[in-house]
Amino acid sequence: MAQQYPEWIWQNGEIKPWAQATTHVMSHALHYGSSVFEGIRSYATPDGAAIFRLTDHINRLYQSAKIYDMALPYTADELAAACRAVIKKNGLGASYLRPVAYRGLGGFGLSAETPIDVAVAAWPMGPYLGPEALENGITACVSSWQRFAPNTIPAGAKAGGNYLSGQLIAREARRLGFGEGIALASSGLLSEGAGENLFLVFDGVLHTTPASASILTGITRDTLKTLAREDGIEVVERDLPREYLYLADEILMCGTAAEVTPIRSVDGKQIGNGTAGRVTRRLQELFFGLFDGRTHDKWGWLEQV
Ligand code: PMP
Repeated sequence: MAQQYPEWIWQNGEIKPWAQATTHVMSHALHYGSSVFEGIRSYATPDGAAIFRLTDHINRLYQSAKIYDMALPYTADELAAACRAVIKKNGLGASYLRPVAYRGLGGFGLSAETPIDVAVAAWPMGPYLGPEALENGITACVSSWQRFAPNTIPAGAKAGGNYLSGQLIAREARRLGFGEGIALASSGLLSEGAGENLFLVFDGVLHTTPASASILTGITRDTLKTLAREDGIEVVERDLPREYLYLADEILMCGTAAEVTPIRSVDGKQIGNGTAGRVTRRLQELFFGLFDGRTHDKWGWLEQV
């Protein structure tokens, strides 16, 4: 089915028609994965469209760029304004935003100082892991692919090249008939999903894997940690062995795209009673409550378009 694209996109300082936002085939990023990006959601709230944790996402884009010595040619305020502009210009409400900065045309050496091109796209997006994922949960499997070791490629940077790993994990899972893949770190301990962080629940306590487990420390993960603690739910960051997946009372995956998705089974073994558990439901309530006003946003996470 042909993909429907929005009308407008922001590229290198200007809003232009989607089809005109092109780049050269010899751009550095296309060959070497040298891009950094963000995935951000905007929600329709009672006070109008709001971008969730826009400032934190833009900050992470700068951090990813710093790791790869990419000097972004725009200020954080300019990029935040670009995000707002593409939503407004396309007349979007709830949508997904994709700022990307990449090494463009200007040299083929691995350490070439190319220009840094920047674009921001936005498009409507529903639940990432399928229409019923949020309500009914998804099945997951442990991938035969491990995440890259911490001394190879930094998982804490959201760089294009990292997503070769995510593609192997996600495509294998789908090929085998699972909703999503979960990867182990090079230590053999749990890392994260192909594009999501993991929380396991034992006796009402949330356990999530640490930065040292080759994860992207997600902004949704941070949101859930904060909401849980505020609600009196204990959260611990710790190394977790694979078999804990099979023994957990509840498991959820989270991310900007995946939001808060319950996991029904792992490797064919049922988790809890095979539906979203009590803690997962509570976190969904608190998380989605941010967007309909049931959860008071005392952190200033909702940034108006
Ligand atoms: N891990 C990976 C590998 C991801 O791609 C994502 C999605 N950006 C996440 C975790 C979740 O991060 P966030 O909550 O900031 O979207």
